[in-house]
Amino acid sequence: MKLDATDLRYLTSEEFRVLTAAEMGSKNHEVVPSSLIAQISGLRSGGVNKMLGSLAKRNLIAKVQNTKYDGYRLTYGGYDYLAMRALSKRDSMYSVGNQIGVGKESDIYAVADAEGNQMVLKLHRLGRISFRAIKDKRDYMGKRKSASWMYMSRLAAQKEWAFMKILYEHEFPVPKPIDQARHTILMELIDAYPLRQVAEVESPGKLYSHLMDIIVRFAHAGLIHGDYNEFNILIRRETGEPVVIDFPQMVSTSHENAEWYFNRDVDCIRTFFRRRFNYESKLYPRFKSTLSEKGEHDFKLDIMVSASGFAKKDQKVLEEYMDAVKEAEGDDEPPNSEDEDEEEEEEEELMEESDGEEELGVKENVGEEKLPTEGTDGTELLT
Ligand code: ADP
Ligand code: MG
Repeated sequence: MKLDATDLRYLTSEEFRVLTAAEMGSKNHEVVPSSLIAQISGLRSGGVNKMLGSLAKRNLIAKVQNTKYDGYRLTYGGYDYLAMRALSKRDSMYSVGNQIGVGKESDIYAVADAEGNQMVLKLHRLGRISFRAIKDKRDYMGKRKSASWMYMSRLAAQKEWAFMKILYEHEFPVPKPIDQARHTILMELIDAYPLRQVAEVESPGKLYSHLMDIIVRFAHAGLIHGDYNEFNILIRRETGEPVVIDFPQMVSTSHENAEWYFNRDVDCIRTFFRRRFNYESKLYPRFKSTLSEKGEHDFKLDIMVSASGFAKKDQKVLEEYMDAVKEAEGDDEPPNSEDEDEEEEEEEELMEESDGEEELGVKENVGEEKLPTEGTDGTELLT
């Protein structure tokens, strides 16, 4: 999606008030009635209707014709706007440049602060894949809440932020985290190429051991990256040093499937080096012996992250969502020790639903999901 930085500066404070009201109303309404938006914003309803029209024209909200009532829902564009506005209010960022990456579940932009220093803004886009196909099969949102793209995207950003901060503070080779708002994180721009784009390196053996050392260091600190591959390892242009990115799927070494995740990370590197550099080594880290070694750290980052405000409960919600998406996509999955029978049944059910694939719709669908009843962290912006 294209980000329009012009709006960042030219939205009036009243329009902003209306947009924030739409976000707040989304906490417990799939479609927020115009009257509720007027009420929350505290503005005259005549004026509000005009502003709703102009916000919809800019695709910050979308009009939804409901059988019971007409109303609006916040769009990705609107949520992006609110996040960027929060970042610019705090003087963390000033302008938006080019899109430099698009992942399955994120958009990456080059942005800058007021002095023109370049940074990276990562906008999480969970729920681009509709959860309808998977929603009923797992009770991961509890009874009252159902998942929404806003809520899941925000959780992913908060998790990534918590991990990036702690890793950076402990001198792991990761980008410097700068700020976080809603579903976005702002970080240092690394002058690098993804390993995926690197055709040749001076010494594959040296890079290979370096990358395996990082896996071992992670594990000694209680962590497994969980998506450690040529897309998430950047190679600095100047020095050839690796930098690791992309942390929403990190797991603890005490996770029930820790060994499976650990081995998958190790295998990704081995396979890539074999195919790309024709390099193979008998040396590679094993989970059990790695854990039994005395690491250089006597702290446990996984425990520190849990204590840093990203609660265990949130971890669980996010993890189950991500597993469910992978399952629906037919990706590699860890063995589920909890309930094998249920797993098989679910697979059968999925196969029976021949229209399952079509349900993996684009983001137009997601607005129909119920919105969360908690936290869109926007209240403080109504100033
Ligand atoms: P996703 O979760 O969608 O995979 P990533 O965090 O892996 O998102 O980022 C996607 C791509 O964006 C990366 O492969 C890389 O090319 C680029 N990128 C992300 N973060 C940075 C950064 N800090 N510096 C430079 N490039 C980055
Ligand atoms: Mg990635």
